[in-house]
Amino acid sequence: MSKFIFVTGGVMSALGKGIAAASIGRLLESRGYKITLQKFDPYLNVDPGTMSPFQHGEVYVTDDGAETDLDLGHYERFTSTKTTKAHNWTAGKIYESILRKERRGDYLGKTVQIIPHVTQEIKDAFFTVVNKNDIVIVEIGGTVGDIESLPFLEAIRQMKLEFGPDILFVHLTLVPFIKTSGELKTKPTQHSVKELRAIGIQPDILLCRTDRALNQDIKAKISLFTNVPLEAVITAQDVDNIYEIPLLFSQENLDSIILNRLGLPLGTRDLTKWKDMVQKSKSPKDEVDIALVGKYAGLQDSYISLNQALCHGGEAHQLKVNISWIEAEDLEHFSPEKVLDFADGILVPGGFGTRGIEGKIKSITYARMQKVPFFGICLGMQCASIEYARNIANLDKANSTEFTKKTPHKIIFKWRELKGVKDLGGTMRLGQYSCLLKKGSLAEKAYGQLEISERHRHRFEFNPAYEKILSDAGLFISGKNPDHDLVEIIEIEDHPWFLGCQFHPEFKSKPMDPHPLFKAFIGASYDYRNQRDKNK
Ligand code: GLN
Repeated sequence: MSKFIFVTGGVMSALGKGIAAASIGRLLESRGYKITLQKFDPYLNVDPGTMSPFQHGEVYVTDDGAETDLDLGHYERFTSTKTTKAHNWTAGKIYESILRKERRGDYLGKTVQIIPHVTQEIKDAFFTVVNKNDIVIVEIGGTVGDIESLPFLEAIRQMKLEFGPDILFVHLTLVPFIKTSGELKTKPTQHSVKELRAIGIQPDILLCRTDRALNQDIKAKISLFTNVPLEAVITAQDVDNIYEIPLLFSQENLDSIILNRLGLPLGTRDLTKWKDMVQKSKSPKDEVDIALVGKYAGLQDSYISLNQALCHGGEAHQLKVNISWIEAEDLEHFSPEKVLDFADGILVPGGFGTRGIEGKIKSITYARMQKVPFFGICLGMQCASIEYARNIANLDKANSTEFTKKTPHKIIFKWRELKGVKDLGGTMRLGQYSCLLKKGSLAEKAYGQLEISERHRHRFEFNPAYEKILSDAGLFISGKNPDHDLVEIIEIEDHPWFLGCQFHPEFKSKPMDPHPLFKAFIGASYDYRNQRDKNK
């Protein structure tokens, strides 16, 4: 049987449970184990797809088209696991399945209850990702003590009862430093573990989030009050670079403690490549300034993967990437020359809704004319197509039907509308689609191959009726989906680097395997920076 590690969180949210779980995954992989990670969220939405980015942060998309929690992005970036629909469950998804069974009569007249029916459904979900993995790491969202998390905690308690030595409980907690008394405080941790023990869960390992190393005295105190052996009280100290966390945990021997507890051989730990990657990222040879023109500029959590992919792209050239978040609406009032003058590269990311669109388009005109490297992703690619139509192909008032129905030139429009499919919700193009690249394109140069596949999350598409018109006006359509004949990548040739893609490449970038488009974009931006410095 596979082993399960359940990661819970105490005291408060935002302590970095997802990154802690992902770091455990990295460590166990470095010891030669096959692992995967799974996330359970206690809220009632069936998935985060319909939630506002202000509520939820980024919606991470998997190859199989699931709209999931952003922690799955950390799982894929830290480990070699490939996540799917089965890797993210919400209370809503669990209840949806139970209610469907109830209506079908599957419960044969029984009263359907939290225990045992909901907990059984949760336990069944744990086993959906086992496959050939030695260890499954399951992150339970929310904070211990919340009403909503209770069925999940009850389910993991039952797992221990049923599978004893194959189950391990890791609890992430906070040990705050109180400035006025100059002390680290263990009480929040004591209380959080007390809550867990009251529902029958004794944590095996504590990860104590703190801003400084915990000395033996503090660890001994925590151990005594929580009934966790001293060696298993681990310091989880704040770091600048999240990819350092597996290294930090390894110094505390977290991997050997876990493997000993699970009765698994230790093997030898090989973190050499990971260490090199962290070391390199800490000693960049130079830097590059990227302007990110978006709507949620104030909410960086909604662009975690993008942020990461840009840094990975920088690391590929040993560059530090300084990302400046520019509110697109500001560009409607100020000239782009003023706002964007500092930028070595301009990126317009994905997004939804009308606000800020004209500002984004203005930034694209600026990038095109000033020959600043430009990267448009999803909505950014759609805006670049509109910009080209309006200003080069002279299609006045060209637009997307997402923003106005009253345009004579629907450059971007709802594909399903044209196909006559009724709009009944669930209408997005989601997940992995293949794309054929044109020889000699920037895309082909970046990827080094002619067929790629990337992840999508959008409703609107480049209108095939304008393909010829815009191509004749000089737009280079360099990537298309062969199955549905849809435009996936546009480029401008008389420009150092101008590329827009309908998909989201950021979801597939990893620190040890930077995404080719981000690598190419950062490379071009750095060249532009050097050129500009020379001309000064
Ligand atoms: N709003 C656009 C669409 O739905 C773009 C979506 C995105 O950028 N992810 O097509």
